[in-house]
Amino acid sequence: MAPFEFATPRSLQQAIALLDPEDPDIRPVGGGTAIMLMMKAGVLRPTRLVSLQDVEPEHSRISIGGNGELQIGGLTRLAALEHSQEVREGWPLLARTLRTLSNVRVRNVATLGGNLAHADPHMDMPPVLSALGASVTVTGPAGERTLPVEELATGYYETVLARNELISKVTVPAQAGRPAAYMKVTTRASHDWPALGVAVVLDMQGERIGNASVIVGAATDRPTRLVDAEAILRGALPDAAT
Ligand SMILES: Cc1cc2nc3c(=O)[nH]c(=O)nc-3n(C[C@H](O)[C@H](O)[C@H](O)COP(=O)(O)OP(=O)(O)OC[C@H]3O[C@@H](n4cnc5c(N)ncnc54)[C@H](O)[C@@H]3O)c2cc1C
Repeated sequence: MAPFEFATPRSLQQAIALLDPEDPDIRPVGGGTAIMLMMKAGVLRPTRLVSLQDVEPEHSRISIGGNGELQIGGLTRLAALEHSQEVREGWPLLARTLRTLSNVRVRNVATLGGNLAHADPHMDMPPVLSALGASVTVTGPAGERTLPVEELATGYYETVLARNELISKVTVPAQAGRPAAYMKVTTRASHDWPALGVAVVLDMQGERIGNASVIVGAATDRPTRLVDAEAILRGALPDAAT
């Protein structure tokens, strides 16, 4: 393995300053679980890794905002999200999904920001967060911008992020009793990478379905909304035939 610099900035702004918008060999590191695999496979040979581990703790916090929305710092570990009482009570779909996302060793170190920025299509959180209507806050040298999680990935391992932008926060609207499910299909164990993932969130209007959000992952190069399926569900009764 070629030698590389390992920077440990103490703030998000310092981390951003150590990144280079023109240089793909300089990368931020959240948990490093995906970076290490890419380095082992020889597809990434970094000259500098910028660790996000020591930046301000506020970027690893989970809190509830004024409108009942879930606010998750971009550096929050997946295990912290999985074990959060607030998440279990208010966003059971997230807690359930995390239980079969990889194994406990990966969840203990992987971060939500790293998970979304990696943009491997074979992942569980992007379709689930997209179906829940989550948004992502991105911080760069010029400040912050916010966009739907659904618009983050542009293709296979590609995102709209500039090389010196970091995912600093993810905001999830209240699940508020909306029926929601994620079906993960794997080729072997239940906690493997998905070969297919389908996330469904329904807004009910009385007994009928109002709006439906249906997002498929893994089978496509990025999470993809199934608009025809959503149109069929709108206004329908959620019975066995539907
Ligand atoms: C054995 C194994 C099994 C797995 N199984 C599953 C599974 O079943 N389902 C599933 O969904 N996933 C699975 N994964 C993938 C896992 O979820 C990801 O590796 C992990 O979420 C990446 O997070 P990280 O913090 O470690 O990212 P890192 O490895 O640190 O970074 C990943 C990418 O994101 C960039 N990055 C990191 N943090 C940020 C940030 N805050 N802002 C912008 N860019 C950033 C990095 O530069 C890099 O390009 C598995 C991984 C392993 C190793």
